[in-house]
Formats: sequence, C-alpha cells, structure tokens
Amino acid sequence: MKQSQIRNFSIIAHIDHGKSTLADRIMEETQTVSEREMSSQLLDSMAVEQEHGITVKSRTVRSYYTANNGETFEYNFIDTPGHVDFSYEVSKSLAASDGAILLVDATQGVQAQTVANYRLAKENNLKIIPVINKIDHPNADVEETKIQLMELADVDEDEMLLISAKTGIGVDLVLEAIKDRIPEPVGDIEAPLKALVFDSHFDAFKGIVAYIRVFDGEFKANNLLRFMQQTTDFQVVEAGIFKPDMVAVDSLHAGDVGYVITGLKDPQLVKIGDTLTSQNHPTPEALPGYKESESMVFAGFYPKDNNYKELKSAIQKLALNDSSFHYKEEKSDALGLGFRCGFLGMLHLSIIRERLEKEYQLGVLTTTPNVTYHVILKNGKEVIVDNPVQFPDFSEIDHVEEPFLDVHMTVPDEQVGDIMKLAEKRKGIFQDMAYNSGQTELNYALPSSEIAYDFFNQLKSLSHGYATMETQFKGYQTADVVKMDVLVNYATVDALGFVVHRQDAVEIGQKLVEQLKYAIPRKLFPMPVQAVVENKAIARANVPPLRKSATTGSDKKNAAKQDMLRRQSANKRLGSKAEMDLPQEVFNAILEVN
Ligand code: GDP
Ligand code: MG
Repeated sequence: MKQSQIRNFSIIAHIDHGKSTLADRIMEETQTVSEREMSSQLLDSMAVEQEHGITVKSRTVRSYYTANNGETFEYNFIDTPGHVDFSYEVSKSLAASDGAILLVDATQGVQAQTVANYRLAKENNLKIIPVINKIDHPNADVEETKIQLMELADVDEDEMLLISAKTGIGVDLVLEAIKDRIPEPVGDIEAPLKALVFDSHFDAFKGIVAYIRVFDGEFKANNLLRFMQQTTDFQVVEAGIFKPDMVAVDSLHAGDVGYVITGLKDPQLVKIGDTLTSQNHPTPEALPGYKESESMVFAGFYPKDNNYKELKSAIQKLALNDSSFHYKEEKSDALGLGFRCGFLGMLHLSIIRERLEKEYQLGVLTTTPNVTYHVILKNGKEVIVDNPVQFPDFSEIDHVEEPFLDVHMTVPDEQVGDIMKLAEKRKGIFQDMAYNSGQTELNYALPSSEIAYDFFNQLKSLSHGYATMETQFKGYQTADVVKMDVLVNYATVDALGFVVHRQDAVEIGQKLVEQLKYAIPRKLFPMPVQAVVENKAIARANVPPLRKSATTGSDKKNAAKQDMLRRQSANKRLGSKAEMDLPQEVFNAILEVN
C-alpha cells in the first residue's frame, strides 16, 4: 500500500475508559476478524489479562478501512494498557505511531492517566484525536467532560468526537477522522532499512519475534538483517503483520508496522528500542530508542523447587516481552541463588509473578518488596539501596532519604476525617484541600513505601469504593528509617531483613515475631525469633518445637535435651549460616505487618 494510504496510531486513555472495547469495534467494522472469532476485549488474550480484566501488554493490529470516498486505507493501531504500572508499554507504542486517539470516559472525566498519556503523546509529536466515550451511559456528563478536555489539551470543541464504544454509536466518525486527521507516515522506501523494535516476544519454536515500525527502506524473508545495538546479525525467517494473529506477508516497507521472525534463540540478543537495519546497506544512524524505565518497587525472586536455571531462562524471556521489568542475579545466605527484580509498582510485581506461574509453570518465592533508599554515610558517601541486605550498619549512617509521592485523592465529604487519619498514620504530610460539590480534594505528600502495598485498598474500603487516587513521583526526602533484622535461633536470616520507619519499629517488630512464631517451620526444639534494630532486640517470641514431647522422661530432662539440640543447630549455623526452609508465608507475614 502507498504511504499516503497508511495510518499508524495508538489508542490511549485512563484504565477502564474503553480502549480495548473501541479496539473491538474497529476490528468489527473493518472486518478484521470474523463474527465467529469476535469476543469482547478480544485483544486481552493473556491469562493474566482475562483474570484481572485489564490490559497489561500493548497489542498491535492491522485493519483495512474502506473510507466514505471509496478508497481503502491500511490502519495499524495499538491498544495500550491504562494502569500507571504499565505506562512504559504506552510510551513504546507511541514511538511507533503518528497519531493517538485519546479516549475519555464521560462518566469519569479526565483522570490521572488521561493527563499522563496526553503528555506522552505530545512529547512524541503525535496528532491527537480527542474522543469522549460511554455517551450511552446514564451517568455520562458529556458537557463537563468537554470542559475538562479543553482545559487539558489544546483542542476545540468541534474536534471532539462523541461515541459509545459499547453500542458502536459514533465509531464510524472515528474511523473517518483517523484518515483525515492523522498524518501519513513519512519515510523513504529507497533509503537503507531503518526500523524501530517497539516490542518483542520469545517463541519456543521460532525464537525471538521482534515487533517493528519501519521508518525507511524495506525487507523481505531471507534478507540479511542486523539489530544495531549489539550488532546481532540474522537472516529473516518471516516478515508479517498482526491481524491480530501473526500473518506472513511478502515484504514490509517504510510506514508499515509488523513483525520479523529472527530465528535467534538467545533472548538477550535483542533489546526493545533497538534499530533494525540491513547487513549490506546499514543505515548510518540508529534511532534514539527509549529512555530506560525506573523501577519503583524491588523484590527478590527465588526458585521454589531448586529450578534456578529454568527460572533464569523464564525471567530472560519475560524481560524480552516487558522492558520495564528489570532483574539482576543475587545470592542470599538463606535462599541461595536468585534475582533482585525491579518493577513499576505492586500490580506490575504480581502480574510478573503470575506470568511466571501461568506461562512458564514456575513457582517463585518472593521476598518482601521494598523501595529504593538513598543512604548518606558519615564519610559523605552515598549508597543506593535496592535490597535491604545492602543497608549499611547504623553506626556509619548520617541520614537516609526515601522516595515520596504527591498523592491527590478525591473523597466523599463524609469520609474525609477517616481518610485524613489514614494518610497521617502513613506519615502523610498534608499539603492542601478543596471542597467541590459533595467531594473533597485532598493532597498529601506520602512516602512511597507507605502506599506501595495496600494504601489504595484501605482508601477504597474506607470510602466504600468511591475515593479515587492519583500519584506522581515527588522526589527523595529525609526519612527516619532503620533496618530491622530478623534472627532465628540467634542467627540473622539475611533474606528476612527489611527497612521500617523508626516510630513504627517496636509495634511492627512485636506483631512480626508473633506471626513468625507460626510461619517458620518448626524444629524438634523451641527456637527464639527476634526482631533486632540497631543491635537491640525489640521483640521476641518462641517457635514451638515440632512435638511437645520429643523425648521421654522428666520435663527437666526433656528441656535439657531440647536445649542441647537447639545449641547444636545454632553452632552449626555459625559456620554455615542459615540452613532453614523459608516458605512464602514467612515473607507474607512481613508484608502483612508493614
Ligand atoms: P480499557 O481499560 O480502557 O481497555 O477499557 P475496556 O475496554 O476494558 O472497558 C472497561 C469497561 O467499560 C468494560 O466493562 C466495558 O464494557 C465498558 N465500556 C467500554 N466502552 C463503553 C461504552 O461506550 N459504554 C458503556 N456503557 N460501557 C463501556
Ligand atoms: Mg484495555
């Protein structure tokens, strides 16, 4: 198809504003999939997406649209995720697009990710088509949504399209607007091949499949191509497009979006953001690629069944499919070899863990999640800690800084008091508030460690589901935090250490030992479990022995025997450190008390 008849665009919006439903309608109206194959949210095909009812991965589709003037256009569009934890997916998709449909749910108006995604689209110089969705809904407030959109974006009222992605009203106008308003791709088909790798996945049989947007040149099967970053050469096994399943085509050329099957079997050979070119006539300059994503939450992943190698290979393959997931190898005394993994948020963490289970049949032990701390030492040096094991000894520390978020909440008036109490309990620093017809806008600065885990759930439950929350990274601020060590039978278990706010340490320590008493696997003898801060034990409990009467004879004798067993174990540990099984419940106990 001529470039003048190609349009490349992404559908962007806040979560649940109807992107995947609009994608369904576009595929239906352009007969991309047959009626028989059609189902709702067709593109959310991953097991984790269906289970959670959200889009996790961007999906690319090619459709052919016959316009009102009778001409046919090639539409390559990308349905993107809306949750903030997957915003990196959106930025990759936008770099492969020339325009974006910005959807806003008329029952909710402009929300946090509407704003964030609008800005991303602007940064990528994309033409934006503003679309108001869910106009069929009884709670739709189209006029208010229009006003909010005009405040956010540089758009006129008459540019906005009003639709219902569910019933299909107005979708025909969107399809026409795409050809009229989004610019055709610019690119030179005669120039050396230059294509952006905006995504990829690993196929057990075909190896690495790279998803690409071709900017210049063209290629076909059997051509000799190259990924520029690491000069990875290969011969093209197949070129193709997404309909939305993979379908082979003869060639892909400037302006097209599609895939290339590389046959490469090492997932580390290709990086998302890489430039694809030809071996014989390479383009002189690679594309700028992407900014690396910055992890907000870290946790250790350890193999559950002694399958370190399988876990490593699965993690490498997942990282090929999700470039916002970072990992490095680490070793723990208690858990052995594993990985320190970085995520964009807690939802991202649990999705990755579920994907390992569902797509690779691998159970992983996940250590207590933590944020990054900046520890400034007395000698002036700064240590960046993304694993509590690296937390310097308290005697060397001058002060510690932790990440803070700006948190904007909209809450029903009746619950303002309860929610302010919650925010203050979580060390929120009040910024300001405003009343707004039955709703209160509350702004706090909160340590991200305090809201990473279950703050949102508590907010929802206090407000019976009505409160909303938006967050933005604020920066690092001084925090009075300390490392809490957990000792079992007088030996520190490295993998169990975590960082807490000093003022909570005693309460958390006491709750923790009570929980660990039941979570730590029992031995033949009772074992003390202690929470220690700055060399002082602040809480202690005993893990009861396996059987109450492990030996016969008098109680006194019994106690003496148990004590001997315990000492033997403690001595053994001094030499070889921990030889303890740590079930997932132990880490869950730590998460629960935090
Ligand atoms: P996404 O997160 O932006 O991809 O949103 P989805 O397409 O998954 O839609 C979220 C929910 O909104 C689903 O329950 C849809 O059925 C519903 N929805 C989407 N579009 C409309 C619409 O135009 N009207 C109504 N009433 N509901 C819609
Ligand atoms: Mg979706």
